[in-house]
Amino acid sequence: MSVLVYVENAEGKFKKSIFEAVSYAKAIATQLNTNLTAISIGNVGASELENLGKYGATKVLNVSNEKLKSFVNQAYASVIAEAAKKEDANIIVVSNSFSGKGLVARIGVKLDAAVISGAIELPNTDGGKFTIKRTAFSNKAFATVDVTAQTKVISLTPNSYKVVEDGQSASIEDFAPTTKDSDFTTIIKDIVRATDKVSLPDAELVVSAGRGLKGPENWGMVEELANLLGAATACSKPVSDADWRPHSEHVGQTGIAISPNLYIAIGISGAIQHLAGVSSSKVIVVINKDPEAPFFKVADYGIVGDAFEVVPKLIAAVKSL
Ligand code: FAD
Repeated sequence: MSVLVYVENAEGKFKKSIFEAVSYAKAIATQLNTNLTAISIGNVGASELENLGKYGATKVLNVSNEKLKSFVNQAYASVIAEAAKKEDANIIVVSNSFSGKGLVARIGVKLDAAVISGAIELPNTDGGKFTIKRTAFSNKAFATVDVTAQTKVISLTPNSYKVVEDGQSASIEDFAPTTKDSDFTTIIKDIVRATDKVSLPDAELVVSAGRGLKGPENWGMVEELANLLGAATACSKPVSDADWRPHSEHVGQTGIAISPNLYIAIGISGAIQHLAGVSSSKVIVVINKDPEAPFFKVADYGIVGDAFEVVPKLIAAVKSL
């Protein structure tokens, strides 16, 4: 019995959400008095892999097969399932990223395992039980589930578990999985966007705006505030539907679900479909000129006012710090 964590890379580097997943998997391994192995697929340098030891992985299985250089859901799930069998792992942890969401279901089927997606806390393993809290219904609710299956596949919600650095360096072992042609029937083309902006799914701070901003020409102040805070920018669905902002910024039920430490919502009404993607943010600040806007019901701090007056004042205040 052991714990396996899949460490997804972005252009050969690991993001903070991966260190969270490794730290989380390590905490489970410690609870169960067993080892943690990481599996990396794709082109990642040795020092980056060894560095995973800092977060608790004792060993890293490194898959550098050319066919697996880019993400292929079915094939990656087969490789991770094969690694789990090799390592006798009965708990597999992945980050609940775009690709992680698809992977957990496939790994679960391959290992005949229980799938717990969107976990937000460590499991309670007292008395031999395995009880775990996860988000449900697109972040509108929480569920605490008792898992009885022997093998468990868990996806961890980014920003729900802290990064813990208390280890050394990990040993690296090359792993050559069996690949089947049938695993490569659907290939997703990698789209790499050149940007130095903070990536939305990993952002700790997010400045978001909605239709209240009237048009794309008014996003300068949103970007200025985000840059000053080191935050990512996001938007409501109608804003990206109208091409005021790119679809990659759309948050909510049909967009990205995020849980940053701070979510600033400017001129967004707070429709239930929008809240589905942002309500697990740690602190929510709402700026809206309508005191009856539904967003205020879930806000930690609310400013009733015109965004075109409030945001420039906020920018000036941040600049004066
Ligand atoms: P509006 O509803 O038009 O609200 C604009 C807000 O700005 C108002 O509250 C107004 O008071 C305020 N305002 C106006 N002027 C100012 C000003 N000068 N200063 C300050 N405040 C101002 N939406 C999402 O966002 N994400 C989703 O994933 C999503 N998925 C959906 C899925 C389905 C199946 C459906 C049916 C809908 C979905 N929607 C989603 C749409 C959602 O229902 C809302 O229509 C949408 O979120 C509203 O966007 P908004 O708040 O930007 O615009």
